[in-house]
Amino acid sequence: MGTAGARFMVAKQLAASGGLYLEEGTTRLALDPGPGAIVQYAKRKIDPSRLSGILLSHRHLDHAGDVNVMIEAMTEGGFKKRGRLYCPSDALDEDPVVLGYLRGFPEEIVRLQPETAYVLGSIDFATSPAHPHGAETYGFRFGGDRLGWVTDSAYYDGIAEQHRAEVMVIHTVLLERRPLPHLCLEDAEAIIREARPRLAILTHFGMTMWRAHPWELAARLTESTGVEVKAARDGLTIDL
Ligand SMILES: [Zn+2]
Repeated sequence: MGTAGARFMVAKQLAASGGLYLEEGTTRLALDPGPGAIVQYAKRKIDPSRLSGILLSHRHLDHAGDVNVMIEAMTEGGFKKRGRLYCPSDALDEDPVVLGYLRGFPEEIVRLQPETAYVLGSIDFATSPAHPHGAETYGFRFGGDRLGWVTDSAYYDGIAEQHRAEVMVIHTVLLERRPLPHLCLEDAEAIIREARPRLAILTHFGMTMWRAHPWELAARLTESTGVEVKAARDGLTIDL
């Protein structure tokens, strides 16, 4: 639903910022519905009133900007109590990103815990330990080791192992290393080299990554690591 990461890409909408969407059987899960997610779902003809759940990796605006409108859409304006919201506690407590009035709309709101397994219909997933990122943030593995989702984080020892999966989606915000709690291209390469997935997909591009043409960078990583690396584009669909 979009490949934009961080504030400048989101503000300019050089790429969309609707997060990811997972489907397994009749279970449908929206991941990190950032600003404009509702527009992307409509554009790609995914009816948000048929969502089974919404999952926030963390409360930052580029991941949670449309969480309220998505909750309303999932529950048909609150008239149908349905679906589950999974989010870190700090999305709900002080300065919450989930508005109070619609917290009764989903069937359940689940506060994510580190290294914990969850089941939503036919989708099962587990959280990583908390990422160093300035807000309570989790990465995920879905379906055991079918899909690893390396969300926003500074690089740390263990990040590759904790998200190791056949297909890994890696939030690669920065081209060059900077004193910010985000992965840069070199970090993504280190994760790919250690975890050696069947396919690695770079996404959530900040402006420096975007300007450097992510698809060219991905081709270079494929060469240097021997692992197939793709740069996501808005609307990319993968059969896992
Ligand atoms: Zn973030």
